[in-house]
Amino acid sequence: MTYDFAILGGGAAGLSLALELVKSQLGNKSILIVEKDAKDSNDRTWCFWADQPTPYDGIARKVWPRLRFQSEGFDRTWELSPLRYQMLRGLDFYNYARSELEKHAVTFVRGLADLEDGQDNASLHVGGELFAAQWAFDSRIRPSDVLPDPRRYNYLKQHFRGWEIETTQPVFDPQTVTLFDLRTPQRGGVTFFYILPFSPTNALVEYTLFSPQVLPDGEYEAALRGYLTTNFGLNDYRILETEQGVIPMTDHPFPRRLGRRILAIGTRGGRVKPSTGYAFARIQRDSRRIVDSLIRHGQPFAIPPDPLRFRFYDGVVLDVFAKQPELGCSILASIFARNPAARVLKFLDDRSSLWEDLQILRAPPAGPFLRALGRKIKGKGFLTRRRAEREEVP
Ligand SMILES: Cc1cc2nc3c(=O)[nH]c(=O)nc-3n(C[C@H](O)[C@H](O)[C@H](O)COP(=O)(O)OP(=O)(O)OC[C@H]3O[C@@H](n4cnc5c(N)ncnc54)[C@H](O)[C@@H]3O)c2cc1C
Repeated sequence: MTYDFAILGGGAAGLSLALELVKSQLGNKSILIVEKDAKDSNDRTWCFWADQPTPYDGIARKVWPRLRFQSEGFDRTWELSPLRYQMLRGLDFYNYARSELEKHAVTFVRGLADLEDGQDNASLHVGGELFAAQWAFDSRIRPSDVLPDPRRYNYLKQHFRGWEIETTQPVFDPQTVTLFDLRTPQRGGVTFFYILPFSPTNALVEYTLFSPQVLPDGEYEAALRGYLTTNFGLNDYRILETEQGVIPMTDHPFPRRLGRRILAIGTRGGRVKPSTGYAFARIQRDSRRIVDSLIRHGQPFAIPPDPLRFRFYDGVVLDVFAKQPELGCSILASIFARNPAARVLKFLDDRSSLWEDLQILRAPPAGPFLRALGRKIKGKGFLTRRRAEREEVP
């Protein structure tokens, strides 16, 4: 009942880390994965962009070479090459991970895990059973992990409901993903439609908001119905699947080290990008860094923090979205009007050069950003964040 590594939560972060571990020189170590759910349904889809092959290319549901941005008076489509935008179904990822991990010394336990730190081991209690592990990686999310401090940080939600629909007429371009269609009333936060087309008659269409509060289900559905009728002339379609979700968008610090033997991963470890809600590609990078730290240092904590300048941009952009939500739409439109989409995606992936950052940041009017910067400095959000992220439990 003693393992080298224990992973709490078999979702995106837990399974990605386990997959990185088994294909590294630590592949002969024993791994325990504790997950409370069966993970036998498609509970979400993940989209991300890449310019290199990824381990998941073989299970991608769809890859798009083009990206479109639409707002009132502005509509443009770009070739993304060398990038490509791709989608993974959660269920395909869970099945793939399980079949790969079962080839190694990986034990899956179904149940609710409790975790306790120790000097030499972390202890896990699962349904009356006790396990120990040299290192534990925790992706369980608990509301008590974040005690809001609104003076310093912003707390928005990215909330959405989408329908995968089948239409009788061909209306979608299956080569082009629509990242933003902002032609909809802005409801106290950036409000848009996101379209992932699989064929001319089949697409996932999501109504998405970056705002403090979720809406009643009926309001997302009314917006979806209205959008499909107004913009595609669609009244006759079949809803094949529904996707709904809430992703935290916050610059609140998430300490990585939770104990002598415990590292936070995934959303719990602050891997969701505060200004966009994207996390999947960041989780992949983080998993590689954790394995690298284990190999080089014999412990998982020597992972580089996110680059300071991107955390700074995230904090300011989030502050504008939170405090001046009426500007969100025009800021996004001005960024996409003056920059190729591939440059914007590189920036959102924390991989742009300083010159590219300047091209992006000079596109919208400077006033709201300077005011947001002033608020952040006054609230000391940037100063405390770095310290809190480095916080170590003795
Ligand atoms: C609907 C939806 C769509 C998203 N789409 C995208 C996208 O397109 N692109 C992108 O980059 N990001 C996306 N995200 C954001 C992010 O990538 C996901 O939330 C991602 O799943 C986060 O990974 P995680 O491992 O932290 O959490 P999860 O994948 O949620 O995994 C956590 C796991 O822990 C388990 N668990 C919780 N408590 C316990 C316990 N006590 N004991 C045992 N197990 C426990 C849960 O059952 C869960 O399986 C999306 C999020 C949602 C909700």
